Amino acid sequence: MIEFVFLGTSASAPSVERGLSAALIMHKDQRFLVDCGEGTQRQILRSGLGFKHLDKVLLTHGHLDHILGLGGLVSTFARWEAANHLSIYGGGWALERVRDLMNVVLRGGEVQLRLEYHEVQPGVIWRRHELTITAFPVLHRGPGCFGFLFEEESRRPFLVKEAERLGVPAGPERKLLVQGQPITLADGRVINPEQVLGPLIPGVKLAWVGDAAQIDGLLEYVAGADALVIEATYLDVEAEMAIRFGHLTSSQAATLAYQAGVKRLYLTHISRRYSASQILAEACPIFADTVVARDLDHFRITRAGSREQEAISTGDQIANDQRAAEQ
Ligand SMILES: [Zn+2]
Ligand SMILES: [Zn+2]
Repeated sequence: MIEFVFLGTSASAPSVERGLSAALIMHKDQRFLVDCGEGTQRQILRSGLGFKHLDKVLLTHGHLDHILGLGGLVSTFARWEAANHLSIYGGGWALERVRDLMNVVLRGGEVQLRLEYHEVQPGVIWRRHELTITAFPVLHRGPGCFGFLFEEESRRPFLVKEAERLGVPAGPERKLLVQGQPITLADGRVINPEQVLGPLIPGVKLAWVGDAAQIDGLLEYVAGADALVIEATYLDVEAEMAIRFGHLTSSQAATLAYQAGVKRLYLTHISRRYSASQILAEACPIFADTVVARDLDHFRITRAGSREQEAISTGDQIANDQRAAEQ
């Protein structure tokens, strides 16, 4: 199961409704902040998820609308939270800008936090706790822009009833079978993993692309994903602007989703010029299962048969709940 929460969904500058780019991606007790636009720490608080376990940041690229929030976040972590380190993953250019920003934040020594910089190259950047994250190159503006593919390990379910029928006792024997090792029962019978493991269930696959100038070259990385998150800054009527500033139109994003055969498309990095319904009206004829993300929208994708993508809560709900709590 992978969950993700959009913290900011606006392009370039915030609007009344939308903050700057950031999202939380969660798998088991691991949390990854993808991008950290200005205002992100307050959005994390508004989401109700807090700062716990938040020790990894992945940067899609080094533009200011994706990194400026790191200054405030680091300051808060160091002064008020129990955090003592933060790992930041990004391309060389993005990390160079973040280092410059951190020189301002950390100068003088009143803020102390161990920062670990990991320069991203295309390929696997994280593999632990049954989750693999692979970075892939994205063309936008400037060097070293990346998308990230989050993939849960596939696994075969343990067939408890079959194990009971065969007389496999509960305990370490079952663990060995799950790990793929045969066991010998007290009566001398050998039980092989094949006898008690069901068919392979693929893990959840989430493809996350930040700003992008074109969809060419992305297909091989995002193909077959359960969810594709990608920018849709412009509409086709402003395709020339999209080209000039290295962004996508809604229809380009939908075309990629269609070609890649993803299950659902989530559009973000929305220009203040457009409403969500305009973005949808352009995308849906090309790819029907499209969502225009709003700040604080929270989704969950489970690996179970149907691969359901469930909305846990929406930005509107959270805002209403908070308003009610304040009254
Ligand atoms: Zn941007
Ligand atoms: Zn950008």
